[in-house]
Amino acid sequence: MPVGWHTAARAPGCRSGGIRSGGPTAWRHSAGRRSAGRRSVGPARQTGVVGADPTEVLRQLAASSTRVDRLAHLAALPDRPARVAPWPSWVPEPVRSALAASGVRELWSHQVDAAEHAYAGRHVVVSTGTASGKSLAYLLPALSTLVAAGEPRSKRDRRPAVLYLAPTKALARDQLAALESLAGVDMPGVRPAAVDGDNDREERAWARDHATWVLANPDICHRTLLPGHQRWARFLGGLRYVVVDECHHYRGVFGSHVAHVLRRLRRLATHYGADPTFVLASATVAESEVTAGRLLGMPVVPVTDDGSPRTGAHVALWEPPLLAGSSARDGQVRRAATSEAAELLTDLVTAGVRTLVFVRSRRAAETVASAAARQLGEVDADLASRVAAYRGGYLPEDRRAIEKALTSGELVGVAATNALELGIDVSGLDAVITTGFPGTRAALWQQFGRAGRDRRDALGVFVARDDPLDRYLVSHPEAILGRPVEATVIDPDNPYVLGPHLAAAAAELPLSEADLELFGPLAAEGVAALSRAGMLRRRPRGWYWTARERASDLADIRSSGGLPVQIVHGETGRLLGTVDAATAPATVHEGAVYLHQGETWLVESLDLDEAVAIVRSDDPDYTTTARSVTEIGIRGVDREHAWGASRLCFGTVAVTHQVVSYLRRQIGSGEVLGDEPLDLPPRTLETKAVWWTVSDDQLGGSDVATADLPGAAHAAEHASIGLLPLFATCDRWDIGGVSTARHPDTDELTVFVYDGHPGGAGFAERGFEVARDWLAATRETIRGCGCLEGCPSCVQSPKCGNQNHPLDKSGAIRLLTVLLDGVPAVVEE
Ligand SMILES: [Zn+2]
Ligand SMILES: [Zn+2]
Repeated sequence: MPVGWHTAARAPGCRSGGIRSGGPTAWRHSAGRRSAGRRSVGPARQTGVVGADPTEVLRQLAASSTRVDRLAHLAALPDRPARVAPWPSWVPEPVRSALAASGVRELWSHQVDAAEHAYAGRHVVVSTGTASGKSLAYLLPALSTLVAAGEPRSKRDRRPAVLYLAPTKALARDQLAALESLAGVDMPGVRPAAVDGDNDREERAWARDHATWVLANPDICHRTLLPGHQRWARFLGGLRYVVVDECHHYRGVFGSHVAHVLRRLRRLATHYGADPTFVLASATVAESEVTAGRLLGMPVVPVTDDGSPRTGAHVALWEPPLLAGSSARDGQVRRAATSEAAELLTDLVTAGVRTLVFVRSRRAAETVASAAARQLGEVDADLASRVAAYRGGYLPEDRRAIEKALTSGELVGVAATNALELGIDVSGLDAVITTGFPGTRAALWQQFGRAGRDRRDALGVFVARDDPLDRYLVSHPEAILGRPVEATVIDPDNPYVLGPHLAAAAAELPLSEADLELFGPLAAEGVAALSRAGMLRRRPRGWYWTARERASDLADIRSSGGLPVQIVHGETGRLLGTVDAATAPATVHEGAVYLHQGETWLVESLDLDEAVAIVRSDDPDYTTTARSVTEIGIRGVDREHAWGASRLCFGTVAVTHQVVSYLRRQIGSGEVLGDEPLDLPPRTLETKAVWWTVSDDQLGGSDVATADLPGAAHAAEHASIGLLPLFATCDRWDIGGVSTARHPDTDELTVFVYDGHPGGAGFAERGFEVARDWLAATRETIRGCGCLEGCPSCVQSPKCGNQNHPLDKSGAIRLLTVLLDGVPAVVEE
């Protein structure tokens, strides 16, 4: 069933700010209790300064006459008592005592719910808050099954086995350490091993022959475990559970690839006689069972009712003021979120509140820390030395020293880059300030969850940046505090993703007719295309891989088509990372300022044929924006709704895009320093889009003047792109837009929003499904913005290829009203 319209019913706001049941549960449990797994936290410490109640301090700050209106919302999250459930009778004594020794003395209701489903053989996704002990959902059934089977007697003995998949090698290694400490107690039959790129031959051989619990990532499955399945026959044949941890990371094109890796895994498990149960763990997102079901290709039972306890906390939404005197022509500007955060940090530190500020870049971390130190120096010279920046580029020992100083109370304030969020190991914080939406709601709660010690109330402050999504969030607290509307989306039917996995599957075992169903409705077409290309050959037992190369080399599961462009540090030759071929011309063209994991780099050259960009470490005082020309053509309509005389469509489009120059803008003032031409080839992208049209008749009867239409459509397009990440876990770079007062294919005013990846990534489709809510939120954001003629908080876009011209803010509101007026009260699929 499609996932669209019924979500509309639960959008209504709770603007008064109360917390509904089923709301966020990110706050760490009270001290002392440890859940098994890497997320466990040490006992809270009571050292260092004891400051004031952080929320009380914030209230006083907000009350001052100069800050009126900045505290947009303050919500109290009450204590929530634990709901415990009895231990399932099937958990054997050794498992229970090993877990008890690690601190798990009782179980929360959601852990038992999920574990019971899994033990009974039902695929399950547990989607509860940060630190709610999701790992017990799979540890209980998996450990119990292995322990009940006992020690393997011989190498050929087919014993039950568990495969644990994490999105990264590091997370799998963390999980291995947790499991080893559990299994070290006395659990016969539990033999864990990590399988990843760091293994030597001996370790790999041991894992193949003896391990009953393999910890790996999708990459190693795709490249090693599945293509070499004969060597893993013992393990695959015994497979009883497959754990897919942190499954909300599998989004967009990457998630679509992982969906096919899991299908290939299922097919091989069946071949060797196993029928594993899948246990998935996800952050709290909307419709986790829909995404999990799509990821697996099978129905999944959701467990979302969180039984873990939560200590009380406050969440504040903070909006920096509009700057006086900013000109209407350039759009009004709000005070920078980082300046605002530095000021809040100063005041909280002065009151003895231990505070961690998250910002986007290394430069911002330095700026916030040094501004706060300067301001603190004016109050008390000693305090100035008690704030620091924490960022990439520091040696591990420097970072550990900062963590220690923050935990002990020697440091009272730290500004850190978002990118390091997962790497920070601190406890005893009172407050967390998040500067700008970190991309997903799950990430925001993860950051807020860093605060809270003892039984004291913790404080999380979200400081809005000058951006439509941030603006929407501060004026719609329910989007952060209520039930999530953000869904993790994937599109396993993307032919660019499907094709290479069909090839890989055929190379693993000949593909039969019956197998095709597993790979979705487009599999037959995909197999036919591969056969025509001479890569597959049909024989009585199915389609065989007949090409010479390794079939698994056809798919790079971390990239989205085309050779990813490698970012190389010119001086040292070090590989810093990669960007997708599709976005490279706009993000790593010659002269671009490129931000990677909070570090700033300057691109010296881009070679698209070689797929390499050479960068040097630099920190210029300007940003760069690519200018481009884009054309879009409709190739086919998959789904369509009539909204009165308007139409809302989802389908395939071809987008031709050429980056023609780039602008350098001064940081802070935004002043344009120069427009540098670029010589880059046009690129055509065939992808999925959602688009809407408004007819001439509708426009004739409306109050939008013909001359304003291009600006109105363009402004509506920008704002809608800014708001889509509220509903689908994507960021602005994953999607693009085109708007036109008359499009040749529709002969009407048309606004397109498309997936920025070949074949689509699921974002546009999600936009189609939640279009009414999404476009209504877009209109509200524009309407609610205090600027006169449009600003970065509503209709201006930092990635506009047209320099934000033309834009008509009020026209966009009227245009969206014409469109939304046509939405039927009840929409039938
Ligand atoms: Zn505005
Ligand atoms: Zn634009």
